Amino acid sequence: MNTEIIKLDQQKIDKKAIEKAAQWIQKKELVAFPTETVYGLGANGLDPEASAKIYAAKGRPSDNPLILHISDIKQLVPLVQEIPEAAKKAMRAFWPGPMTIILNKSDLVPLETTGGLSTVAVRMPDHPIALALIAKSGCPIAAPSANASGRPSPTLAEHVYEDMEGKIPLILDGGMVGIGIESTIIDFSGDMPMILRPGFITKEKLEEVIGETVAIDPAVLKMKRMEGAAPKAPGMKYRHYAPKAKLVLVSGSEHNVISYINKKTKEAHDNDKKVGVIGTDETIALFDADVVLSIGTSSSDRTIAHSLYAVLRQFDHEDVDLIYSQVFESGQNGFAIMNRLMKAAGYERIEV
Ligand code: AMP
Ligand code: MG
Repeated sequence: MNTEIIKLDQQKIDKKAIEKAAQWIQKKELVAFPTETVYGLGANGLDPEASAKIYAAKGRPSDNPLILHISDIKQLVPLVQEIPEAAKKAMRAFWPGPMTIILNKSDLVPLETTGGLSTVAVRMPDHPIALALIAKSGCPIAAPSANASGRPSPTLAEHVYEDMEGKIPLILDGGMVGIGIESTIIDFSGDMPMILRPGFITKEKLEEVIGETVAIDPAVLKMKRMEGAAPKAPGMKYRHYAPKAKLVLVSGSEHNVISYINKKTKEAHDNDKKVGVIGTDETIALFDADVVLSIGTSSSDRTIAHSLYAVLRQFDHEDVDLIYSQVFESGQNGFAIMNRLMKAAGYERIEV
């Protein structure tokens, strides 16, 4: 299959391109498109045959459910059973935006889309191209991140092409995404709202809007490889976001972290190995490794969230044997960034 890429201007979206994309969706095919979080791999979410193609293209395990993307709040009602007051408040405050809600599903939503679960995940993305595509297609669009399963999520159309070339007919290229990490997932199907995946919308922001306590899935809070307790978002149990080379996180005072990584770099060089480092604008000049990439500035966690996946992917094009990274815990996005980075590192974190 030939994979076409159409570049779109967000300010002035080419209607013909959206029509073409919507036709592919109606023909049960896959279209990758930009959202404000990461690029999505879209298909008709109410058609089991169409969503099966998502699993095949990504190599995604079939028990890992998909998020349905809508462009109008009216599309939500037929997909779910009841909508609790807390969910309504959150939707009013954060949609369109980087928040996915989980509710009990209606019979309209096929089990193939929800990985066999009786709940469904729904989001209204805050991106003009995504909204135009969903509206034109006339159905909720199931769209996981448009990466091959296990790889870092795509924040550029080029990343999608790397993973999906020959597997899908069309990529809508809207340039670099805005946020760079996936949506916050919040489950409203239980007794208490619970965050299953941290993101740009934090627990504190949700609590402020909902007016009740929001829990965090204990499996997510632990930030380590799970024995026993499985995370409630099935996708969170898989190895994910990982670059090809082994990644190790190093935390401690900045001075200690830099000395430790430089010492490890020297040892690696003695064994003819090449080393990569993930630092910040402020620290990259201080490392002796072969390839040193900045993930952003330590004064803005937004820049770090924005570059995280592009930096992880960049290392796949560099011939390094081992990658060391500083940790980036501060700011509103710190928790979400560390959630992704810990998974990318297979939970290898050294305190120095
Ligand atoms: P992705 O779109 O690739 O970022 O993955 C979607 C995430 O949403 C995965 O981690 C899924 O496990 C999670 N998810 C989707 N639907 C549900 C659901 N009904 N219950 C719990 N988690 C869900
Ligand atoms: Mg994903």
